[in-house]
Amino acid sequence: MKRAVFPGSFDPITIGHYHIVKKALGIFDEIIIAIGNNSTKNYLFGKEQRLRMIQQAFENEKKVKIEFYDELTVNFCKRLQVRYIIRGLRNSGDFEFEKSIAQMNQKLQPDIETVFFLTDEQYASIQSSIVREIYKNNGDIRQFLPPNVTLP
Ligand code: ADP
Repeated sequence: MKRAVFPGSFDPITIGHYHIVKKALGIFDEIIIAIGNNSTKNYLFGKEQRLRMIQQAFENEKKVKIEFYDELTVNFCKRLQVRYIIRGLRNSGDFEFEKSIAQMNQKLQPDIETVFFLTDEQYASIQSSIVREIYKNNGDIRQFLPPNVTLP
């Protein structure tokens, strides 16, 4: 069984994240969406809110599991005996950044491989940080969220 971890802050999950998971479901048998819960980070949405939104997005998808984690991503993967990390790429900025992380993770855990999915063009400009700004300023963010997700 091929299992992968998709780590992120998901503050909040966007339709961009959602489509990366959909693509990855064509390749992996189980995807664990790993919600980073770093105690030093200030999230806009609390951990339970972020969890609930992801649950709503994948309500009927049995191959998707959701976990919190607060440790090195590769250590989390090792503990769960997962050999693949999924990351999404929107542009060359993402590529350069993600390449460094993946290569450093490779040094930390050579048996864990990072697999990249290129986002579809229509989602390439969607980023959680901008979605948060719109939300904080009372804008309507629903079009940037996956289907079936309701706001807290
Ligand atoms: P992190 O804090 O780890 O960057 P994010 O939740 O912002 O967490 O992103 C998690 C992953 O999802 C990253 O690989 C990021 O590049 C990817 N991602 C974010 N937004 C999109 C999008 N619109 N399309 C494709 N991938 C995306």
